[in-house]
Amino acid sequence: MTDLTRLTAADLAGRLTSRDVSSVEATQAHLDRIAAVEPALHSFLYVNGDEALATARDVDSRRAAGEKLHALAGVPIAIKDIVVTKGMPTTAGSKILEGWIPPYDATITTRIRAAGLPILGKTNMDEFAMGSSTEHSAFGNTHNPWDLDRIPGGSGGGSAAAVAAYEAPLAIGTDTGGSIRQPAAVTGTVGVKPTYGGVSRYGLIALASSLDQAGPVTRTVLDSALLHELIGGHDPRDSTSIDEPLPGLVAAARQGRSGDLTGMRVGVISELTGEGYQPGVRARFTESLEVLRGAGAEIVEVSCPHFTYALGAYYLILPSEASSNLAKFDGMRFGLRVEPSEGKVTAESVMGATRGAGFGDEVKRRIILGTYALSAGYYDAYYGSAQKVRTLIQRDFAAAFAQTDVLVSPTTPTTAFKLGEKLDDPLAMYLNDVATIPANLAGIPGLSVPNGLSDDGLPVGFQVLAPAKADDRLYRVGAALEALLEAQWGGPILAKAPELEVAR
Ligand code: GLN
Repeated sequence: MTDLTRLTAADLAGRLTSRDVSSVEATQAHLDRIAAVEPALHSFLYVNGDEALATARDVDSRRAAGEKLHALAGVPIAIKDIVVTKGMPTTAGSKILEGWIPPYDATITTRIRAAGLPILGKTNMDEFAMGSSTEHSAFGNTHNPWDLDRIPGGSGGGSAAAVAAYEAPLAIGTDTGGSIRQPAAVTGTVGVKPTYGGVSRYGLIALASSLDQAGPVTRTVLDSALLHELIGGHDPRDSTSIDEPLPGLVAAARQGRSGDLTGMRVGVISELTGEGYQPGVRARFTESLEVLRGAGAEIVEVSCPHFTYALGAYYLILPSEASSNLAKFDGMRFGLRVEPSEGKVTAESVMGATRGAGFGDEVKRRIILGTYALSAGYYDAYYGSAQKVRTLIQRDFAAAFAQTDVLVSPTTPTTAFKLGEKLDDPLAMYLNDVATIPANLAGIPGLSVPNGLSDDGLPVGFQVLAPAKADDRLYRVGAALEALLEAQWGGPILAKAPELEVAR
């Protein structure tokens, strides 16, 4: 019998539609896999077994009754713990939200439930999505299934590890500076950050509202397109949501699988390929460019001179917005409440004690940084300058896209690093997102697709960027590269990951 956890979401959906397998069987297979590998991985903060099986039973009976269901109905999914889920704990990886049960669903959650996808649980993440390793989670880190001593990326390391280790065929991530794409790159999975406004932010716990974007984490490009079409599109509850239909993403992915990119102009961003990139990462990138050229794409070099300042601008804009967004965690409204150990119990002293006990070091560091950058005397020098740099980066992209259809780079400078290696060095941690951050600053979409193994035997990611609202191009180019590389390797790169020792 086939192991149902090894199927892609598209294949599983097909088997469900033909009633070859039931959603209960598929959901149970994933819950069994979760039980077996969680002791080693810790991808999940909460497993939602009973409710997932109830959804699966409901879908099975509706299907048996001949009801017309969504294409993904019955395919289980995992959701990053920053997306609110009614009746299910949601912590954003923080002690300050421990015990909070949201009274409502995010729009993403509503759409997932309406389409009949059993929700397997909530995945681990860096606290409030601040980090690149999942080591800043208040509930312990997640391990990379390729090597348990290494990080699975962050902040969405839980979603990426869950998908890479066959705990879930689909997962939701959020990407403020790279938290979907970087974990995808270091776990050998596919991750997409949609155009800003392309997927509703209603019910996402906000980190930096002008940068945050939710999107899919999957094992194939087509699966990401299927999930993106399900969660994306206009939402009147999010005032930044784009009020236009999505371009045809699934169609673009299917077209891409043919491996023909004739006429596609691909720009290589020279600022994101040179020094600081691991030799194996650079080598796989160059080889992938040749594959795209072989598929008929025209490869040109472009320069985005202001990208040198992207990281600096991001680490002023993000903390500024975060310091404001996180002010609502005051010990009164959500989750944790701590009274001061001495002195009077006042609103201010409870707030101080709660925030002192509830937030981790990285969160405190960024709140302090952001508050400083926004303070009266320094606003122009820091926040104001960062916003100007943001405009220059947007202009760099506009100029580059005037001569190309998509832009490409390695997703990350290195493969997965060792747990603990960068934990005490915030700047080294921040550098992991040097190639992913520009897209967030400009609001454009980006995809990471596995493009081989580095010399250390660990997976590498290839990043594709497109102009705002042209997300379909990511899927076409991503699926073409995926198809051509699979033909070379004789299957998906993820099949090269070592089997995990399974608990029984
Ligand atoms: N690693 C980046 C940061 O720490 C990105 C976070 C994210 O995309 N949520 O800010």
